[in-house]
Amino acid sequence: MNTEDIRRMHREYVMSTYAPGLALVRGEGVRVYDAEDHEYLDFLAGIAVTNLGHAHPRYVEAIREQAGRLVHVSNLYYNEHQPRLARDLVERSGFEVGKCFFCNSGAEANEGLIKLARLWGHDQGRYEVVSMRGSFHGRTLATLTATGQDKVQKGFAPLPQGFRYAEFNDPASCREQIGPETAAVLVEAIQGEGGVRPAHRGYLRQLRKICDEEGVLLLMDEVQCGMGRTGRWFGFQHYGVQPDAFALAKGLGNGFPMGAVVAGAKLADVFHPGHHATTFGGTPLACAAARAVIEVIETEGLIENAGRMGHMLVEGLCSIAADHPRWIEEVRGLGLMVGLVLDRPAAPLQKKLQEKGLLALATAGKVLRFLPPLIVGEDDVRRALEITAAACDELEQEGTEASR
Ligand SMILES: *Cc1c(COP(=O)(O)O)cnc(C)c1O
Repeated sequence: MNTEDIRRMHREYVMSTYAPGLALVRGEGVRVYDAEDHEYLDFLAGIAVTNLGHAHPRYVEAIREQAGRLVHVSNLYYNEHQPRLARDLVERSGFEVGKCFFCNSGAEANEGLIKLARLWGHDQGRYEVVSMRGSFHGRTLATLTATGQDKVQKGFAPLPQGFRYAEFNDPASCREQIGPETAAVLVEAIQGEGGVRPAHRGYLRQLRKICDEEGVLLLMDEVQCGMGRTGRWFGFQHYGVQPDAFALAKGLGNGFPMGAVVAGAKLADVFHPGHHATTFGGTPLACAAARAVIEVIETEGLIENAGRMGHMLVEGLCSIAADHPRWIEEVRGLGLMVGLVLDRPAAPLQKKLQEKGLLALATAGKVLRFLPPLIVGEDDVRRALEITAAACDELEQEGTEASR
């Protein structure tokens, strides 16, 4: 099928929750190819998912091997990979003791955090969750309510009760929202969909202190910034803060749909049989895939690479920004979670980059987000910067001509 065939059939049979452009059919490392075999440098990685790049041999082998052995048994039976993956995650989390619950997506992982907080607070009459403006936590009814963005909630009233909102990077605003019914504060270390906004130095520490003083849980959504993307295993590890539990998904399975709740001592033993469940969560296949992800990240030094390549990408983008001071405002991010902040919609730049063979994503209107796989090399970053510089020059040129 060519792109036009795929597009036509998609329009007829698939609900239009997205407006896709390209039809990608194959990938290798940092590159993907469309139905006409055009090559693209993938600096989006399926929205921070395919951290090992495409078709990584060790990952492919792990899935193949496990698929031929045992795919699914349900959580009514033990499977050998689930506790090993849970141990691997807890050991990297900074929790002295901890436990995991496995599910299938980021929304479900956050839903799990919210249920965990409500059950924990139930006997004290604490059920409210305070989340941040500009946050993103998913699209289920509870998680879209936790998401502090009107556009995500519009049209879905009545929303579930028990959610309040504070300003991101403003500890005083969070303290104001906490009351006797508050069970938890939920926050991202680096807001992703909100426009690649890192927490300020000290902010998360102050939240930790406020939560401790108020007897409230600190929960973190690491769905996008976790799993090595920022140059540490988890985003909060840049800030010297330990949450009471956090949510993972996106990069955890490298594209195999998977999410996890990782909880420290306070929350590790709150759920008992009957409280929470999932048919698919933590299958042998999903856990084998995620174990291969952790193995490759460590054997190939991908976390250090994310830090180094992120630095190179930011430096290069800063120099591009300096060439276009009239409309590029800022470069921000951590590791390989990087945003180029414009004074205008970023969609035209995204489009121009794609025409030139570079995939990135406009988010929060005016931010162009780069989320390359963690295997990205210097040559790839250099090439992406060349394309971005050329696209910015052209846009500036066209803008000048248009205003003549
Ligand atoms: C993507 C994302 C989610 C939602 O994950 P899904 O797998 O799409 O449900 C939640 N939180 C954050 C921070 C995300 O980036």
